[in-house]
Amino acid sequence: MPNSDTGVVIIGGGAAGIAAGRQLAKAAIPCLVIEARSRLGGRAWTETGASGFALDLGCGWLHSADRNPWVPIVEAQGRIIDKSLPPWKKPAMKAGFSADLQADFARAQSDFFERMETAAQSRPDVAASALLEPGNRWNGLLAAVGSYISGAELEYLSVQDFDNYADTGVNWRVADGYGTAIADHGRDLKVALDCPVLQIDHRGRRLKIETAKGSFTADQAIVTLPSALIADKEFLFAPALPDKAEAARGLPLGLADKMFLTLDDAEEFDPDTRAIGRIDRAATATYQFRPMGRPLIEVYFGGRLPAELEAAGEGSFFDFVRAELTDLFGSGFARRVKPLRMHCWGSDPFARGSYSYALPGKAGCRPQLAAPVDDRLFFAGEACSTHDFSTAHGGYLTGIAAADQVIAVRRSRRR
Ligand SMILES: Cc1cc2nc3c(=O)[nH]c(=O)nc-3n(C[C@H](O)[C@H](O)[C@H](O)COP(=O)(O)OP(=O)(O)OC[C@H]3O[C@@H](n4cnc5c(N)ncnc54)[C@H](O)[C@@H]3O)c2cc1C
Repeated sequence: MPNSDTGVVIIGGGAAGIAAGRQLAKAAIPCLVIEARSRLGGRAWTETGASGFALDLGCGWLHSADRNPWVPIVEAQGRIIDKSLPPWKKPAMKAGFSADLQADFARAQSDFFERMETAAQSRPDVAASALLEPGNRWNGLLAAVGSYISGAELEYLSVQDFDNYADTGVNWRVADGYGTAIADHGRDLKVALDCPVLQIDHRGRRLKIETAKGSFTADQAIVTLPSALIADKEFLFAPALPDKAEAARGLPLGLADKMFLTLDDAEEFDPDTRAIGRIDRAATATYQFRPMGRPLIEVYFGGRLPAELEAAGEGSFFDFVRAELTDLFGSGFARRVKPLRMHCWGSDPFARGSYSYALPGKAGCRPQLAAPVDDRLFFAGEACSTHDFSTAHGGYLTGIAAADQVIAVRRSRRR
């Protein structure tokens, strides 16, 4: 067990907590990362199981890669970055989705995004679903794409928040896994693993952090817990911080789950190509064939669909996938795929979802969640980012920002 008294406690060892820890360590400020899981990385998690392939169960794409701060870190670690074009930037497979239909959908999608951009400039904020054209044949697929992007149905999505997201359109991958690289970045930090924080008591002169393994004391804390947990945990802060709970409630975590399948005779398909399960409904999965050339299919589920499948049990994901794939490629296809690995992020007690979105009217909750309290409690994590939310680089940048705030406060006190 690490020393129970330190300068700064960082609660949560995901992208944000690791970034904050490294920044404080660079400034020679004693700090300890307290992490509930038995590993670092949080929603960044690469598993290399029996298949031998690095499977990113959480984040996989270095979004906005041309300005993503993880890129130079991954490069310095000596890892290979795959820069091939992501499947969603190429035409989808023609199975169930002819070239003409794809062109028609692309127009509908671009019109929808344009309406979102225009609506984001006016007040009050509206839900993205308000911008669908009633009766448009593509509304189901637009909702499916929305659920992959945000993990939620369009009626829950703030248009202003959606529009605040800054994307350069460059997307790369880490051959050994994004999760591997992020966890590796935290390798030299002082960390207490398997140590869920129960309460942050900020009544006394020093902070008291109660955990399942005893209490820690510190001058300051950086809280990087997923917003769903801050919203849910009534006794997380003593005294309570209603402003933080309210901000977190405006930023629920959407749900996206991934499932990896092995694929026999994979060479029949081009690497990094994509099929859509159904083009006429929101409850459908998207299938990335041969990610980075591997003989696998990476299946992506978003929104209500994975929530319902999680509730029905993990086996129901494969039943769903088998039905969609055999509809697309014929009944013999079922023999060519086997489930390899997945993770249910909605029922994961230390995540309770995949990435944050803002409810209509709640885009302002991001800076509200990020604001420090009394120069002692600081906040980081993807949900705190106004422009890079829902991503691992957003998490990183908020971690650096919170650590810099801590450093500034400590320096000003020394003067
Ligand atoms: C399926 C999926 C796909 C994704 N795809 C991408 C992608 O392609 N690109 C991208 O950039 N992002 C993607 N993301 C999002 C990205 O993974 C997250 O935005 C990012 O990892 C969040 O980092 P964080 O540090 O803010 O939070 P987290 O990683 O959640 O870190 C918070 C930490 O707090 C810990 N914790 C929880 N409760 C306690 C407690 N009581 N006490 C102590 N510790 C606790 C957690 O275990 C966790 O380690 C994806 C996520 C998922 C789930």
